[in-house]
Amino acid sequence: MGLNACVYCDCFQQGRLRVPAPVRVTAASDGSVGPAVGSSVDEQKQFDDWRRSACEHPGGVYLSRRLGNVDLIGGIRATLARTPDLYPVLLTRVVYSGSHSGDALSREFFDQLSTELDDLVRAQTRDARESDWLLSFAAEIRRVLTAGRRMKQPIVF
Ligand SMILES: [Zn+2]
Repeated sequence: MGLNACVYCDCFQQGRLRVPAPVRVTAASDGSVGPAVGSSVDEQKQFDDWRRSACEHPGGVYLSRRLGNVDLIGGIRATLARTPDLYPVLLTRVVYSGSHSGDALSREFFDQLSTELDDLVRAQTRDARESDWLLSFAAEIRRVLTAGRRMKQPIVF
């Protein structure tokens, strides 16, 4: 259990596929690509076989990072919650739970998230271990944010 974040590549949307899809596919709002609604089991299997190597990104994942286990994310949440006005996106959409999954942070939040990460890196805590957690967490989120901006795709948890 823990919190992971990923960004899907935009190869399907940009037409940069090695092999055209053998079945009807649809792009979801989180940037992932799946078999069209109503696909048969056989079509879903064909989709799975195709998706694995349809582009240079295995499974269509551009970047995937582990943000931390439940305890670590809980610790980060408690630290950020001391100054909640500084971290609205991190608190309500990223670390609100240490194990949320299946939700996404859309691009409209990226600028605010970037500001919050800048503030987080500047924030000094007296506890060196806590500072290490916060800095490595901020670095991982920054990587995912950069990937989301590059791909023009949301961050998916
Ligand atoms: Zn790709």
